[in-house]
Amino acid sequence: MPVLPWHQIDTVLLDMDGTLLDLHFDNHFWLTHLPRRYAEHHGISLALAEAELLPLFRQHAGTLNWYCTDFWSRELKLPIRALKREVAHLIALRPDAEAFLRALREAGKRVVLITNAHRDSLSLKLERVELAPWFERLISSHDYGFPKEDQQFWQALQQDIDFAPARSLFIDDSLSILRSARTFGVAHLLAVRQPDSQGEPRHTEEFAAVEDYRALIDNL
Ligand SMILES: [Mg+2]
Repeated sequence: MPVLPWHQIDTVLLDMDGTLLDLHFDNHFWLTHLPRRYAEHHGISLALAEAELLPLFRQHAGTLNWYCTDFWSRELKLPIRALKREVAHLIALRPDAEAFLRALREAGKRVVLITNAHRDSLSLKLERVELAPWFERLISSHDYGFPKEDQQFWQALQQDIDFAPARSLFIDDSLSILRSARTFGVAHLLAVRQPDSQGEPRHTEEFAAVEDYRALIDNL
């Protein structure tokens, strides 16, 4: 578990899904619930539904479309927002995420949420968990028109919130997004060891990972 040089950090940029929120909701929705509903809707087997959906998911991974509920509603001719509501009880904070957010506020850090989630998905989550009060801003990359994987996202973010990359910490469960932040010059980067509470701990390659938010705030 890394010890952060908190005195060199003014701004904390935080991803939402898999970082502050349990990724189990999203994984369950896309990999279990949606294929089931898609199979019912088309009167096909679950295996066939998965065979149709998985290549589509792969094709759009890492693009704004992947995160866009309108895109998937059109593409699959299914009401994605309504289907997400059917499993909304699974939306939950990760352990000690709230204690972490409280500690950041008490330490006077500037805290900004940056998510690739569509505004619709963001508002569904904010209905279930009280996240908004902890943040100066809640930014969806759809507002800028570029996902976090794209350098143009970071340029737009800098213009919007005027932060110093060299004095910022960014936590995200996506390694490709962390690499994009590193390219832009964000100095302090952390991955997440176990984004999905029902999944396995992950190897995070060149990045140190948050195992436990309590440990992270010990020296804050
Ligand atoms: Mg994430």
